[in-house]
Amino acid sequence: SSSSSSAAPLPPPAASRSTSQNDVHPKLRRDASDFEFGATLGEGSYSTVMAARDKHTGSWYAIKILDKKHIIRHKKVKYVDIEKNTLNRMNHPGIVRLYWTFHDQQQLYFVLDLARNGELLTYIKKVRANSLATPLGAFDLPTTQFYAAEILSAIEHVHEMGVIHRDIKPENILLDENMHIKLTDFGTAKILESLDDGGKDSLTRHRANSWVGTAEYVSPELLNDKSTCKAYASSAIISFLLILKSAAPNQSPTNTNSPAASPHLSTSSDLWALGCIIYQLLTGRPPFKGSNEYLTFEKIKNLQYTFPYGFPDVARDLVSKLLVLDPATRLGAPEQGGIKALKAHAFFEGIDWERLFELPAPKLH
Ligand code: ATP
Repeated sequence: SSSSSSAAPLPPPAASRSTSQNDVHPKLRRDASDFEFGATLGEGSYSTVMAARDKHTGSWYAIKILDKKHIIRHKKVKYVDIEKNTLNRMNHPGIVRLYWTFHDQQQLYFVLDLARNGELLTYIKKVRANSLATPLGAFDLPTTQFYAAEILSAIEHVHEMGVIHRDIKPENILLDENMHIKLTDFGTAKILESLDDGGKDSLTRHRANSWVGTAEYVSPELLNDKSTCKAYASSAIISFLLILKSAAPNQSPTNTNSPAASPHLSTSSDLWALGCIIYQLLTGRPPFKGSNEYLTFEKIKNLQYTFPYGFPDVARDLVSKLLVLDPATRLGAPEQGGIKALKAHAFFEGIDWERLFELPAPKLH
């Protein structure tokens, strides 16, 4: 690797086969020597993702490689565990599948579905830059309807598996070779009713260190949770002070419950993000965007966004029912009939939910 950072994990050496296990059934176990590593697909703050071919089957995967020392040094062990434990629960065509995990002396490896077409965000930008984009700025209504439905289908599965994703955004929605989505990045997810809680309130156990989401897509209830604010602020101390000041004495009008009511633990935080994404798919930009994180948060908390001229009525109706400050009154919230009620919205009319991932994806211009 040409990377100068000592923290960047290197591709594994070609001959690092562990002798601890014989060649058991090739499906049962894998280690780095079972793969031929190809191109680097991307780098995260704590990981490198490489394309890799299974030598036994010829199948291609994306392998996420994490440097153990780096993870420990930066206190990210917990997030790596969360990613593994939540991904392990998932079994849905619209969610990146985790096939194997293994490790050697230096590195951890996650063998994942390969999403050959990269991030949805890239396509939003591409279409936006293209003169063929709709007058609104990005995808046309049928294309938006299709991707919104795939994202919603994936979200439904995440929630059914007892998980809240908490960082759904176009960078975390990858596209496979057929341009169907693969939701990824479960490092900030939250397992709702963990069996090993021993009856304890998981909220009190987890909230102290939780850090959640990305500014533009974070829901107001997550913002009004002080521990979340603190986490965001780690990137900007000034924001931290300003947010605490505005959040502490004067809670948003919707946050009337005591923390015990845990509004921020609601699955509908992911539905807020869906509302933001539908808006962005149509217009090319997220609904809430300030010139810094603090201003973005202010806009979110004040529900300060507008629909541009030409925004389709049916999408406008849906987005305005998702971008609702109170998570309990948001369309798709358990209190509102759940995701079934959301799927029944006119915006999704004509969607074949059963065959969505088998049907051809719409062509992007
Ligand atoms: P950070 O950890 O800083 O938030 P990240 O979550 O993007 O970054 P990774 O999950 O390591 O970090 O991903 C790094 C890059 O690799 C991303 O840009 C992503 O597009 C690409 N990538 C991740 N998973 C896959 C995959 N399964 N298939 C194809 N590309 C992938």
